[in-house]
Amino acid sequence: MAKRDFYEVLGVQKGADEAALKSAYRKLAMQHHPDKNPGNSESEAKFKEISEAYDTLKDGQKRAAYDRFGHAAFENGGGGQRPGAGFGPDFASSMSDIFEDIFGDFVGGQRRGTGGGAAKLRGSDLRYNLEISLEESFLGRTVEIDVPTLVGCTTCEGSGAKPGTGKHTCRQCNGHGKVRAAQGFFTIERTCPVCQGRGEMMDEPCTDCGGQGRRQENRKLSVSIPKGIEDGTRIRLANEGEAGLRGGPPGDLYIFISIRPHELFQRDGADLYARVPIAMATAALGGEFEVPTLEGTRAKVKVVAGTQPGQQVRLKGKGMPVLRAKDMGDLYVQLDIETPQNLSKRQRELLEEFQNLTTRETNPTSDGFFSKLKKMFEA
Ligand code: ZN
Ligand code: ZN
Repeated sequence: MAKRDFYEVLGVQKGADEAALKSAYRKLAMQHHPDKNPGNSESEAKFKEISEAYDTLKDGQKRAAYDRFGHAAFENGGGGQRPGAGFGPDFASSMSDIFEDIFGDFVGGQRRGTGGGAAKLRGSDLRYNLEISLEESFLGRTVEIDVPTLVGCTTCEGSGAKPGTGKHTCRQCNGHGKVRAAQGFFTIERTCPVCQGRGEMMDEPCTDCGGQGRRQENRKLSVSIPKGIEDGTRIRLANEGEAGLRGGPPGDLYIFISIRPHELFQRDGADLYARVPIAMATAALGGEFEVPTLEGTRAKVKVVAGTQPGQQVRLKGKGMPVLRAKDMGDLYVQLDIETPQNLSKRQRELLEEFQNLTTRETNPTSDGFFSKLKKMFEA
């Protein structure tokens, strides 16, 4: 198969700047990422393709070569890239590029604070997977969750020192936080291994947290789930992640929402779909039945006489609430028509009699179809 043009793959103009390339790649990568499309080989191929295109175009040298020579630039090692190196090292680097970008510090976990060696550390971000029912998404609710996390130690107020005890200058580095070592012609400076760059040591560590300034705890949090929340939504609770280290800021907590499949309803955005089997006679004669709704009430569904398989009845406003809006989606009841089985003798007689009385008017569709067939056979 011929390789597609890299600009075409990303859906950008030939002169597109870096920002445009990145945003196009990010959009496509999110869409086709293997994690989002497990087992889908088409998505995987697409993901490789867009990653390769982005890897080439984001690199000024490779892009210039590609602009001059096209794909030929990278054959026979021309551009320094192995043929078909979709999942090579470049691929990995652009992945983390983008994902760090999208999820911020989420992927990286602990990020180094500012201020050189005196390492204040921001607490790690946490992920919590929360599964809810479709009813819970319909009603919205507050959920209590238990999050195992590191919290600031209240005994030492995060300092790590036993209350009432002092600190002393680190004897290893004399308070510089750095030590020097000669290595051949060079002098290498590195963070002091004794005080970890703080320059000072506690006289006595806090007994409650072992000098860490934070300790493991199960935190109870209440999360408010808005009405109409969709499967795959991420809720960010700022500063509710792990406590920071040595006075660093806390991380964030991300709640990933998944919604359990429902027995009766399938969801598409704010609309709900339900397949309901009805008897053949009901479809022909018309009738009425009830379906339960997520509100806990029942809704009437009218079947008009002469209903055909697959026909659906729309119940306006009986779907899901639209997130952060007053609107409601609709409920579509899809009618499956059940052909009767295990007929008694009498039922069979009646149906045979009915069949003998069938006219062009009772079955216009099949009548039209069979007269077309007849014409073909006669031709
Ligand atoms: Zn403590
Ligand atoms: Zn030191």
